[in-house]
Amino acid sequence: MTQDLSAVQSRDNVWEMAQRQLDEVAKLIGLNESIHGYLRVPKRVLEVSVPVRMDDGSFRMFAGYRVQHNMSRGPGKGGIRFHPDVTLDEVKALAMWMTWKCALVNIPFGGAKGGVICDPKHMSMQELENLTRRFTSEISIIIGPEKDIPAPDVYTTPQIMAWIMDTFSMQAGYSIPGVVTGKPISIGGSLGRDKATARGCLYVVDEAMHEIGREIREARVAIQGFGNAGMYAAQLMSQRGYHIVAVSDSQGGVADAHGLDVSRLMAYKLETGSVVGFTGGDRIDNKDVLEYDCDVLVPAALEKVITAENAPRIKARIVAEAANGPTMPEADAILFERGIMVLPDILANAGGVTVSYFEWVQDLQNNFWEEEEINERLKRKMVRAFRETSEQANRHKVSMRMGAYCVAVARVAEATKLRGLYP
Ligand code: NAD
Repeated sequence: MTQDLSAVQSRDNVWEMAQRQLDEVAKLIGLNESIHGYLRVPKRVLEVSVPVRMDDGSFRMFAGYRVQHNMSRGPGKGGIRFHPDVTLDEVKALAMWMTWKCALVNIPFGGAKGGVICDPKHMSMQELENLTRRFTSEISIIIGPEKDIPAPDVYTTPQIMAWIMDTFSMQAGYSIPGVVTGKPISIGGSLGRDKATARGCLYVVDEAMHEIGREIREARVAIQGFGNAGMYAAQLMSQRGYHIVAVSDSQGGVADAHGLDVSRLMAYKLETGSVVGFTGGDRIDNKDVLEYDCDVLVPAALEKVITAENAPRIKARIVAEAANGPTMPEADAILFERGIMVLPDILANAGGVTVSYFEWVQDLQNNFWEEEEINERLKRKMVRAFRETSEQANRHKVSMRMGAYCVAVARVAEATKLRGLYP
């Protein structure tokens, strides 16, 4: 009985899932055993206790983490997540995925990630600022423009990035905008960063549609999650000609088989805080969005939402993982067998980190680019990553996820091998 339970828990452990994905690709590309062992574990894990003064005058302790998985190709890069369900294992998995993501789009960063166990929905702005500043101070021993550059993730905003930049700069005595990306434009942020994840996702979905010979104008899209990634994906895809037929957020969903009016829906969400209650569509259950009749499904919320249980009922022809880790390995196998093309997270949501890289480059040079230039550079990176992924997937007759891992792991392994072992 106990054994059964632990087997279930270990199947659900997102860190073990990330390691299993690496193990599979190691076999496929014949990765050197020592390098495989090196890449299977994080380089550095920092756990901090963060005391925060609350509005009632008391102070509370929060647990926070910063994990650096691999830095062979450059400084660490990865978001910071504020969420009650953050765990160290989750942060480790997200850090490893960042390593592969940066390598796949070929930007000179390693993988890192951070998180604080907290519930920002029940904290005031002042409490959030106190938490952010103290957390930044605690992890400042391992972050910096040349070491590790945080960014936004779930429930962390440009304002939070501004506080991180300010705290780090105050400690040094001068402004260091390159310590963090996803900042507001006025303090060294990049044009196009807010929509970059969604835009990158659009570019690879366009490529996938082209590859399977489908017309964009006829395609129907369902999106789970209506935050930064999901909402802008809906906006950009509808502007491109896709029909957005279903969307959801944490409170529920709305659908219209003929296409939702995305501009009105965005205005409604910004006004009320949810898509629920929008009169331009029918109310549907959050989970039903995943199984909605559509051509492209974009999971853009949290992990592990596509499972062995619902994978047989998914109707989309393409699944574009705007979220990190939305598909369980068992579900992945089912979707592959059913001929559904899954554009893996490390490809489909790599637009965010790519424009973060552009932001960092602009900050270091104090030279800021026009938005068209940024979008054009982003498109080149995304299209190239899609084609390299597709080429590897076809060559090995494997899924797009495995194809993407082949490209990424080989790049990181090469850098690790070339640098050699110190001392
Ligand atoms: P966000 O906080 O802006 O939005 C999250 C959205 O998900 C919200 O609309 C929320 O209501 C919804 N949500 C939460 N729980 C849900 C549930 N159970 N069912 C349906 N919807 C639910 O976060 P984001 O930045 O859009 O990130 C979403 C995903 O995209 C995460 O997995 C994140 O790691 C990934 N991602 C984001 C970026 C980025 O640049 N923002 C980059 C790469 C990957």
